[in-house]
Amino acid sequence: MSGIVYLVGSGPGSLDLLTFRAREVIDSAEVILYDQLPGEEILATLPASAEKINCGKFGGSHTLKQDEIESLMIERAQQGKRVVRLKGGDPFVFGRGGEEMEVLREHNIAVEVVPGITSAIAVPECLGIPVTHRSHASQVTFLTGHEDPTKEESAIDWGWLARSPGTIVILMGVKNLGMITSSLIEHGMAAEKPVAIIEQGFRPDQRITIGSLSDITEKARANGVKPPAIIVIGGVVSLYRDGSEGAWSRSNTNQ
Ligand code: SAH
Repeated sequence: MSGIVYLVGSGPGSLDLLTFRAREVIDSAEVILYDQLPGEEILATLPASAEKINCGKFGGSHTLKQDEIESLMIERAQQGKRVVRLKGGDPFVFGRGGEEMEVLREHNIAVEVVPGITSAIAVPECLGIPVTHRSHASQVTFLTGHEDPTKEESAIDWGWLARSPGTIVILMGVKNLGMITSSLIEHGMAAEKPVAIIEQGFRPDQRITIGSLSDITEKARANGVKPPAIIVIGGVVSLYRDGSEGAWSRSNTNQ
Protein backbone atom coordinates (compact mmCIF):
# COMPACT_ATOMS: atom_id res chain seq x y z
CA MET A 1 0.00 0.00 0.00
CA SER A 2 1.44 3.35 -0.92
CA GLY A 3 0.66 6.66 0.68
CA ILE A 4 0.34 10.12 -0.72
CA VAL A 5 1.78 13.52 0.05
CA TYR A 6 -0.33 16.65 -0.28
CA LEU A 7 1.70 19.83 -0.73
CA VAL A 8 -0.80 22.27 0.76
CA GLY A 9 -0.87 26.05 0.74
CA SER A 10 -2.57 27.51 3.81
CA GLY A 11 -3.09 31.00 2.35
CA PRO A 12 -1.89 34.23 3.93
CA GLY A 13 -2.79 33.37 7.53
CA SER A 14 -6.52 33.85 7.99
CA LEU A 15 -8.58 30.70 8.59
CA ASP A 16 -11.36 31.88 6.28
CA LEU A 17 -8.90 32.11 3.39
CA LEU A 18 -7.98 28.42 3.56
CA THR A 19 -9.43 26.54 0.56
CA PHE A 20 -12.06 23.80 0.92
CA ARG A 21 -9.61 21.31 -0.57
CA ALA A 22 -6.94 22.28 1.96
CA ARG A 23 -9.43 21.84 4.82
CA GLU A 24 -10.46 18.44 3.46
CA VAL A 25 -6.94 17.01 3.13
CA ILE A 26 -5.81 18.50 6.48
CA ASP A 27 -8.80 17.00 8.28
CA SER A 28 -8.18 13.53 6.86
CA ALA A 29 -4.37 13.59 7.21
CA GLU A 30 -2.54 10.99 9.26
CA VAL A 31 0.69 13.00 9.34
CA ILE A 32 1.10 16.80 9.07
CA LEU A 33 4.48 18.42 8.62
CA TYR A 34 3.95 22.13 9.15
CA ASP A 35 5.89 25.37 9.05
CA GLN A 36 5.22 28.31 11.37
CA LEU A 37 4.17 30.58 8.50
CA PRO A 38 0.53 29.34 8.28
CA GLY A 39 0.05 31.13 11.64
CA GLU A 40 -1.55 30.29 14.96
CA GLU A 41 -5.15 30.67 13.76
CA ILE A 42 -4.72 27.84 11.23
CA LEU A 43 -2.28 25.69 13.20
CA ALA A 44 -4.77 25.63 16.10
CA THR A 45 -7.23 23.75 13.85
CA LEU A 46 -4.98 20.80 12.92
CA PRO A 47 -6.76 17.54 13.78
CA ALA A 48 -5.87 15.99 17.13
CA SER A 49 -5.71 12.52 15.57
CA ALA A 50 -2.83 13.35 13.18
CA GLU A 51 0.86 13.02 13.95
CA LYS A 52 2.01 16.65 13.84
CA ILE A 53 5.61 17.52 13.09
CA ASN A 54 6.77 21.10 13.53
CA CYS A 55 9.32 21.84 10.83
CA GLY A 56 9.78 25.29 12.34
CA LYS A 57 11.10 26.82 9.17
CA PHE A 58 10.75 30.44 10.04
CA GLY A 59 12.98 33.48 10.47
CA GLY A 60 16.11 31.48 9.75
CA SER A 61 15.93 29.24 12.82
CA HIS A 62 15.29 25.89 11.20
CA THR A 63 14.01 23.26 13.58
CA LEU A 64 14.37 20.63 10.85
CA LYS A 65 16.68 20.80 7.86
CA GLN A 66 15.17 20.58 4.38
CA ASP A 67 16.57 17.08 3.78
CA GLU A 68 15.21 15.91 7.14
CA ILE A 69 11.76 17.22 6.21
CA GLU A 70 11.94 15.43 2.87
CA SER A 71 13.11 12.17 4.47
CA LEU A 72 10.23 12.27 6.94
CA MET A 73 7.66 12.87 4.18
CA ILE A 74 9.08 9.99 2.14
CA GLU A 75 9.26 7.62 5.10
CA ARG A 76 5.70 8.28 6.26
CA ALA A 77 4.30 8.04 2.71
CA GLN A 78 6.17 4.75 2.20
CA GLN A 79 4.42 3.47 5.33
CA GLY A 80 1.19 4.07 3.40
CA LYS A 81 0.19 7.23 5.24
CA ARG A 82 -1.73 10.25 4.04
CA VAL A 83 0.79 13.02 4.59
CA VAL A 84 0.14 16.77 4.47
CA ARG A 85 3.03 19.15 4.00
CA LEU A 86 1.51 22.45 5.15
CA LYS A 87 3.06 25.70 3.97
CA GLY A 88 2.17 29.38 4.15
CA GLY A 89 0.59 31.08 1.14
CA ASP A 90 0.95 29.01 -2.03
CA PRO A 91 3.27 25.98 -1.90
CA PHE A 92 4.93 26.83 -5.22
CA VAL A 93 5.69 30.51 -4.47
CA PHE A 94 9.08 30.64 -2.73
CA GLY A 95 8.01 27.73 -0.58
CA ARG A 96 10.32 24.98 -1.87
CA GLY A 97 7.17 23.13 -2.91
CA GLY A 98 8.65 22.57 -6.35
CA GLU A 99 11.76 20.92 -4.93
CA GLU A 100 9.69 18.74 -2.60
CA MET A 101 7.52 17.60 -5.51
CA GLU A 102 10.66 16.58 -7.43
CA VAL A 103 12.05 14.56 -4.53
CA LEU A 104 8.73 12.79 -4.02
CA ARG A 105 8.55 11.98 -7.73
CA GLU A 106 12.05 10.51 -7.59
CA HIS A 107 10.76 8.14 -4.92
CA ASN A 108 7.61 7.31 -6.92
CA ILE A 109 5.36 8.76 -4.23
CA ALA A 110 1.97 10.13 -5.26
CA VAL A 111 1.76 13.90 -4.87
CA GLU A 112 -1.19 16.27 -4.96
CA VAL A 113 -0.57 19.99 -4.86
CA VAL A 114 -3.25 22.11 -3.18
CA PRO A 115 -2.87 25.75 -4.21
CA GLY A 116 -3.13 28.48 -1.59
CA ILE A 117 -3.69 32.21 -1.79
CA THR A 118 -0.22 33.70 -1.93
CA SER A 119 0.75 36.42 0.54
CA ALA A 120 2.53 38.15 -2.33
CA ILE A 121 -0.85 39.27 -3.73
CA ALA A 122 -3.25 38.95 -0.80
CA VAL A 123 -1.28 40.87 1.84
CA PRO A 124 -0.98 44.13 -0.16
CA GLU A 125 -4.52 43.56 -1.42
CA CYS A 126 -6.01 43.45 2.06
CA LEU A 127 -4.65 46.96 2.60
CA GLY A 128 -6.12 48.25 -0.63
CA ILE A 129 -2.94 47.93 -2.71
CA PRO A 130 -3.58 46.06 -5.98
CA VAL A 131 -0.43 44.57 -7.55
CA THR A 132 -1.69 45.56 -11.02
CA HIS A 133 -3.77 48.59 -12.03
CA ARG A 134 -4.46 50.05 -15.49
CA SER A 135 -3.01 53.43 -14.52
CA HIS A 136 -0.04 52.21 -12.51
CA ALA A 137 1.24 48.77 -13.42
CA SER A 138 0.73 46.35 -16.30
CA GLN A 139 3.32 43.96 -15.01
CA VAL A 140 4.38 42.61 -11.65
CA THR A 141 7.60 40.94 -10.58
CA PHE A 142 7.80 38.65 -7.55
CA LEU A 143 11.19 38.49 -6.00
CA THR A 144 12.98 36.85 -3.12
CA GLY A 145 14.90 39.38 -1.08
CA HIS A 146 16.90 36.58 0.42
CA GLU A 147 19.70 37.19 -2.03
CA ASP A 148 22.33 39.78 -1.34
CA PRO A 149 22.11 42.16 -4.34
CA THR A 150 25.78 43.10 -3.99
CA LYS A 151 26.73 39.46 -4.56
CA GLU A 152 28.43 39.05 -7.94
CA GLU A 153 26.68 35.88 -9.02
CA SER A 154 23.18 37.16 -8.09
CA ALA A 155 20.40 35.32 -9.93
CA ILE A 156 18.46 38.59 -10.02
CA ASP A 157 19.16 41.18 -12.71
CA TRP A 158 18.98 44.37 -10.63
CA GLY A 159 19.64 46.62 -13.64
CA TRP A 160 16.67 45.13 -15.50
CA LEU A 161 14.53 45.32 -12.38
CA ALA A 162 15.36 48.99 -11.77
CA ARG A 163 14.22 49.82 -15.33
CA SER A 164 11.08 47.66 -15.25
CA PRO A 165 7.93 49.81 -15.17
CA GLY A 166 5.56 47.67 -13.12
CA THR A 167 5.14 46.63 -9.49
CA ILE A 168 7.86 44.80 -7.59
CA VAL A 169 6.76 42.54 -4.74
CA ILE A 170 9.54 41.28 -2.51
CA LEU A 171 9.20 38.36 -0.11
CA MET A 172 11.79 37.61 2.57
CA GLY A 173 13.27 41.05 2.00
CA VAL A 174 13.41 42.65 5.45
CA LYS A 175 16.98 41.69 6.27
CA ASN A 176 18.38 42.96 2.95
CA LEU A 177 16.07 45.98 2.62
CA GLY A 178 18.89 48.54 2.70
CA MET A 179 20.90 46.70 0.07
CA ILE A 180 17.85 46.17 -2.13
CA THR A 181 16.75 49.83 -2.11
CA SER A 182 20.26 51.22 -2.66
CA SER A 183 20.87 48.70 -5.42
CA LEU A 184 17.68 49.78 -7.23
CA ILE A 185 18.54 53.48 -6.86
CA GLU A 186 22.11 52.85 -8.10
CA HIS A 187 20.69 51.09 -11.15
CA GLY A 188 18.50 54.10 -11.96
CA MET A 189 15.14 53.63 -10.24
CA ALA A 190 13.59 56.92 -9.05
CA ALA A 191 14.39 57.52 -5.37
CA GLU A 192 10.87 58.89 -4.78
CA LYS A 193 9.21 55.64 -5.97
CA PRO A 194 6.60 54.69 -3.31
CA VAL A 195 7.26 51.66 -1.13
CA ALA A 196 5.05 49.85 1.38
CA ILE A 197 6.09 47.19 3.87
CA ILE A 198 3.34 45.09 5.40
CA GLU A 199 4.24 42.94 8.37
CA GLN A 200 2.14 40.06 9.70
CA GLY A 201 -0.55 40.30 7.01
CA PHE A 202 -4.00 39.03 8.07
CA ARG A 203 -2.86 38.68 11.68
CA PRO A 204 -3.86 40.78 14.68
CA ASP A 205 -0.50 42.56 14.71
CA GLN A 206 -0.61 43.50 11.01
CA ARG A 207 1.18 46.79 10.37
CA ILE A 208 2.05 48.91 7.34
CA THR A 209 5.02 51.24 6.88
CA ILE A 210 4.90 53.62 3.91
CA GLY A 211 7.76 55.54 2.39
CA SER A 212 9.83 55.98 -0.72
CA LEU A 213 12.79 54.04 -2.06
CA SER A 214 15.13 56.59 -0.46
CA ASP A 215 13.64 56.68 3.05
CA ILE A 216 11.92 53.32 3.60
CA THR A 217 15.01 51.65 5.08
CA GLU A 218 15.30 54.32 7.75
CA LYS A 219 11.54 54.21 8.44
CA ALA A 220 11.63 50.42 8.70
CA ARG A 221 14.51 50.62 11.15
CA ALA A 222 12.70 53.27 13.22
CA ASN A 223 9.54 51.13 13.27
CA GLY A 224 11.44 47.95 14.12
CA VAL A 225 10.02 46.16 11.06
CA LYS A 226 10.37 42.38 11.33
CA PRO A 227 9.57 39.36 9.14
CA PRO A 228 7.28 38.01 7.88
CA ALA A 229 6.67 41.04 5.70
CA ILE A 230 5.81 41.87 2.10
CA ILE A 231 7.58 44.78 0.42
CA VAL A 232 5.74 46.48 -2.46
CA ILE A 233 7.52 48.95 -4.72
CA GLY A 234 5.65 50.98 -7.33
CA GLY A 235 2.90 53.45 -8.14
CA VAL A 236 0.18 51.12 -6.84
CA VAL A 237 1.32 51.94 -3.29
CA SER A 238 -0.19 55.42 -3.76
CA LEU A 239 -3.65 53.77 -3.70
CA TYR A 240 -3.23 52.96 -0.01
CA ARG A 241 -5.45 55.05 2.24
CA ASP A 242 -4.99 55.16 5.97
CA GLY A 243 -7.63 52.93 7.51
CA SER A 244 -8.69 51.26 4.22
CA GLU A 245 -8.00 47.80 5.52
CA GLY A 246 -10.18 45.78 3.11
CA ALA A 247 -10.51 42.06 3.81
CA TRP A 248 -8.81 42.00 7.18
CA SER A 249 -10.74 44.84 8.78
CA ARG A 250 -13.97 43.35 7.42
CA SER A 251 -13.35 40.02 9.10
CA ASN A 252 -12.28 41.87 12.23
CA THR A 253 -15.43 43.92 12.55
CA ASN A 254 -17.57 40.83 11.97
CA GLN A 255 -16.19 39.15 15.05
N1 SAH B 1 4.68 30.44 -0.10
C1 SAH B 1 4.51 31.68 0.61
C2 SAH B 1 5.79 32.46 0.71
C3 SAH B 1 6.91 31.73 1.46
S1 SAH B 1 8.34 32.69 1.64
C4 SAH B 1 3.39 32.49 -0.06
O1 SAH B 1 2.95 32.17 -1.17
O2 SAH B 1 2.90 33.44 0.57
C5 SAH B 1 8.07 33.46 3.20
C6 SAH B 1 7.78 34.93 3.03
O3 SAH B 1 6.43 35.13 2.63
C7 SAH B 1 7.92 35.76 4.27
O4 SAH B 1 9.27 36.06 4.56
C8 SAH B 1 7.14 37.00 3.86
O5 SAH B 1 7.88 37.79 2.97
C9 SAH B 1 6.00 36.39 3.08
N2 SAH B 1 4.77 36.19 3.90
C10 SAH B 1 4.06 35.07 4.00
N3 SAH B 1 2.95 35.23 4.74
C11 SAH B 1 2.95 36.52 5.12
C12 SAH B 1 2.07 37.32 5.90
N4 SAH B 1 0.96 36.81 6.45
N5 SAH B 1 2.37 38.63 6.09
C13 SAH B 1 3.47 39.15 5.55
N6 SAH B 1 4.36 38.45 4.80
C14 SAH B 1 4.10 37.15 4.59
